[in-house]
Amino acid sequence: MKDSLKTLLKCAEIERKIQELSDETQEIPQITKSLAGDLSALSSDLENKKQELLNLTSRLSELQDLLTEKRSWIEEREQNISTLKTHKEFQGAQKEISLARKAIKDAEEEIAKLSPSKEALESGVKEQEESTLPKIEEIKNDIAEKKAHFEKIDQLIAEERRKLDELSKEISDKKMARHFNTIRQRTSPAISLIENGHCMECGTKVLPQTLNQLHRGEAMQICNRCKRIIYFDHMIEDNAADAAQDAKDEAQS
Ligand SMILES: [Zn+2]
Repeated sequence: MKDSLKTLLKCAEIERKIQELSDETQEIPQITKSLAGDLSALSSDLENKKQELLNLTSRLSELQDLLTEKRSWIEEREQNISTLKTHKEFQGAQKEISLARKAIKDAEEEIAKLSPSKEALESGVKEQEESTLPKIEEIKNDIAEKKAHFEKIDQLIAEERRKLDELSKEISDKKMARHFNTIRQRTSPAISLIENGHCMECGTKVLPQTLNQLHRGEAMQICNRCKRIIYFDHMIEDNAADAAQDAKDEAQS
């Protein structure tokens, strides 16, 4: 009976693994979804800042073009001013030049105002890239790992089930093997430790006559509630007395 119980415990270990794997099939899609959310938040925050910098840069370059254009226009206009014939034409030209100077002044003011913002934004983007890019990379790797594992889970579960089938054939106690095969479909693990008269899996106080029979150790006993195969800790211990008894049995056979 001890060997059969030990085999059952090994079976329980495999069943636990199968349970963990099947829990993962539920958990992994949720984990990858939440990781993808983190990833997109980090990326879009960085992208927004980059876009803001791009807009600012293009506005500054627009202003620089405007300055160049207005300056060369004024230069040309001032050269031509001596060729003007009437006072009215002269006044008109003066007014146009003064308007162009005003536009230059406005553009220069805007450039002076925007340039520090651009510098701040540039260093902000650089800082954020340095701190975010490794995180983004890490999250991408996590997602890839989780997905790869998820794709293998069905195969891993099938492997564990095969191991469990093989192992269950090694349960030498026939009655125990039959009961295990009946209840393992609906109960996992199929074996439960008894402590202080209670089934440790379902928490029920096991009937005294069942415990007495288990103490005698002659036949398999089951929990009256969850129907798991029950055992005491000492039943699976390899103590010196057992070893001596085994040696004696060996010598007699
Ligand atoms: Zn129980």
